[in-house]
Amino acid sequence: MNKVIIIGAGIIGMLTARMLSKAGVSVSIIEQGYAGRESSWAGGGIISPLYPWRYSDAVTRLAQWGQQYYPQVLDDIKQHSEIDPQYIQSGLLYLDIEDELDQARQWESHYGYSFEPLSEKALKLIEPGLNSSFRQGWFTDSIGQLRNPRMVRALREELLRLGVTINTQTQAQSFIVENNRLKGVVTDKGSFYGDRVVVAGGAWSSRLLEQWVKIPKIAPVKGQMIVFKAAPGVVSRIVLSKGRYVIPRKDGRVVVGSTLEFDDFDKTTTEEVLSELKQEACRIIPALKDYPVEKQWAGLRPGSVDGVPYIGEHPELKNLYLNAGHFRNGVVIGLASCQLLVNQLLGQKPIVDPEPYFLTEDRLVSDSSLIDLSTAI
Ligand SMILES: Cc1cc2nc3c(=O)[nH]c(=O)nc-3n(C[C@H](O)[C@H](O)[C@H](O)COP(=O)(O)OP(=O)(O)OC[C@H]3O[C@@H](n4cnc5c(N)ncnc54)[C@H](O)[C@@H]3O)c2cc1C
Repeated sequence: MNKVIIIGAGIIGMLTARMLSKAGVSVSIIEQGYAGRESSWAGGGIISPLYPWRYSDAVTRLAQWGQQYYPQVLDDIKQHSEIDPQYIQSGLLYLDIEDELDQARQWESHYGYSFEPLSEKALKLIEPGLNSSFRQGWFTDSIGQLRNPRMVRALREELLRLGVTINTQTQAQSFIVENNRLKGVVTDKGSFYGDRVVVAGGAWSSRLLEQWVKIPKIAPVKGQMIVFKAAPGVVSRIVLSKGRYVIPRKDGRVVVGSTLEFDDFDKTTTEEVLSELKQEACRIIPALKDYPVEKQWAGLRPGSVDGVPYIGEHPELKNLYLNAGHFRNGVVIGLASCQLLVNQLLGQKPIVDPEPYFLTEDRLVSDSSLIDLSTAI
């Protein structure tokens, strides 16, 4: 295999390009906007699913692999790009999970994690700024986080140094097919030819494929976020309560998220969500009321029904590969999903059983209006 074309320069497209390029494959990326400016820019960068016990084994396996290898991969990206993605092992403090404790405990012992139960006094020690109304919590020390805008900038820089071509403001529009084999991609800037094409188009993946093949059940799910310009020490752990979280960054800023909105491809932010996120952040860490909100933004997650991404060759079209549908966990499970796809492209032994991620008939539909994410995780 000489040349691979990747559609999409989010974290998935760029990590895949990085792995292929390091293996000696020539890679061209086609990106309709700018590299790393969509969901992969907008996310919180927590290297764990929020409530990991709610997910299937297929998601946990990828998350575990990613958690194991991220520190060394991020260090390598930092050295080769000279941009620091600011990985920190801040740990994750869970609050208000009493109703799910049995499930969490079973998951914990099955997969070898450890949630340390914390008394009211221990909570105060671990997170002094926490609202004193919290009486108990559970803490996992091993969870880390990265800063998304820095991560995608570092990846882009490293790819350019590796000689990967990133064609920005170039939209993939259709495919060049001969004898049921994919030969290339037609864009608004001309045609690109390659031996394999990987669709890593995030929330837009199914929209691109719709005219050609049965599509995976992927649709956009908007998430709004805000960031407080706080000072170092106001928050020191990722804290999660009732689906809302605060993430402390190295420079003291605190990111707060996030909503789940089924709003097609609309990325506008609202005053209503701004005030709700502010209120929730101050409910968790009261001192945040003294700091200004610096920015509000929204991103479109590539929503799939169960959060299990689609990884592998499309059964209807030779040489068309997919790596998309990571939903709320594209950072934590993305590293392993890209490695798994690269294993398939290069004929290597897979890092985990690839079967749960295949594009099987039951995971495909012919019409995007049939994609129903109302019961999604
Ligand atoms: C608010 C929010 C919080 C999140 N928090 C976390 C978290 O804490 N931890 C975690 O693990 N995950 C988190 N996520 C999820 C994670 O960010 C996503 O799963 C991940 O970024 C998906 O990466 P991607 O590369 O598939 O998609 P994207 O980053 O969206 O990239 C897809 C790219 O493909 C391009 N593209 C699409 N169609 C075409 C086309 N036809 N031609 C050319 N280019 C095309 C797009 O322009 C885009 O740049 C969060 C997401 C959001 C929105």
